[in-house]
Amino acid sequence: MPRAKIIIVGGGLNGLGCAKRLTEQGEDFLLVSENIGGRVKTSPDGQTNYGAYYITADCANIMPYITKKDLVHFAKAHFHSGHTQYRAFSLRMLRHIPAGLRLLKELFIFRRHVQAARARAMHTPYRELIEADPYLKRYYHQNAKEFIKEKNLEALTKEYLEQFLWAAYFTDPREVPTTIFLGVLSTIIIPSYSFIFHFDILTKPFKNKIIIDRVTSLARHANNTFTLETKSGTQYECDILILATPMDIANTLITPQKIKGQINVNYYHLRGVIKKEYDVPWYNFFPIEEEAAISHEPNGTFLYFYNGDDRIGKYFDTWEVITKGTWQPALFFFGDEYINEHPEPNIYLANDHDVPSTEDAFINGHYIANCVLHALHSQIPQ
Ligand SMILES: Cc1cc2nc3c(=O)[nH]c(=O)nc-3n(C[C@H](O)[C@H](O)[C@H](O)COP(=O)(O)OP(=O)(O)OC[C@H]3O[C@@H](n4cnc5c(N)ncnc54)[C@H](O)[C@@H]3O)c2cc1C
Repeated sequence: MPRAKIIIVGGGLNGLGCAKRLTEQGEDFLLVSENIGGRVKTSPDGQTNYGAYYITADCANIMPYITKKDLVHFAKAHFHSGHTQYRAFSLRMLRHIPAGLRLLKELFIFRRHVQAARARAMHTPYRELIEADPYLKRYYHQNAKEFIKEKNLEALTKEYLEQFLWAAYFTDPREVPTTIFLGVLSTIIIPSYSFIFHFDILTKPFKNKIIIDRVTSLARHANNTFTLETKSGTQYECDILILATPMDIANTLITPQKIKGQINVNYYHLRGVIKKEYDVPWYNFFPIEEEAAISHEPNGTFLYFYNGDDRIGKYFDTWEVITKGTWQPALFFFGDEYINEHPEPNIYLANDHDVPSTEDAFINGHYIANCVLHALHSQIPQ
């Protein structure tokens, strides 16, 4: 039976951040995953991202593995309301200038706090960093609805922000924590780009440790070691297990923890003829009740995200499907729970539950690897 001291399950940015750090320290590990990239998934032609779509210029840790493509900005959006279509920077925006300035001020403050937390997050859990910073703590536990009211942003949210934010996280932005609300809006002040992630470069140093397979069950032994059963029928043994899977999957393998509410979303990547009223460069955003967003990609294809009924015929005259899929889960954004990342002896969880995003997942993977390294080399009982 193949055996390693450490097994990482999951090859998204958490699992890969972990693997990178363990490789740097010369540790014995295997990474077992259904795929490489997880919720960073690119179209067969390598041009269009179906999951994570943009990164900001602040994503310093993943930047070495990325080719930036196009600027992603609020100003590229075409907003719809009934039969009216409007742009971000237009006369319509004038009445929102005071609210916009209040929001901008908050975004600059928020960015400073996030940067300070990120700078320490490879050695301290995000939970601790957030709880130690009164600003982040307040906004992590506050519902964005209250923030919008407090800052008098309702009209701006109704006319612009809710449409923009639906396209980023597929729900009413009033229902998520203020940190998530401000996190995505940070793209207004930080240059943000669509991107190609070069997983081949990132995984090159540990390519021979990757096994593409699905873990189906987990057996614990009396001496706190583990046997993993996989879809292919191979079993793997390890002393330390890192579950770098989304929390809903981790919860099927360990004693379940209370987690935030999950958001799912459907998508199409297609070639076709879009209806005249939606034939604009870049992005079509809609009122949140419509639960839809459409991106006109630079290569002429379209990404259509939706929830509820599939209304592809409402937006397109003709279409040819390149890919159709569902993210389930896409994100965990309802609530303010934290997870316990070391719930059982020799088991660690590395996921984006507490702080989502590609950069934060990668940083968190390093943090979990550092916890394991510390436990292994300081002889502290786990
Ligand atoms: C539609 C969408 C849009 C997003 N937009 C952005 C964005 O624009 N910018 C941004 O920064 N972030 C965005 N995100 C969030 C970002 O993608 C995630 O926070 C991040 O990629 C999570 O990484 P992870 O490693 O924690 O999880 P995942 O990427 O989900 O990785 C989990 C891995 O575990 C594997 N796995 C699961 N179960 C098993 C099993 N039983 N056995 C073996 N392997 C298993 C999976 O195959 C996967 O490889 C978006 C996410 C989605 C879904």
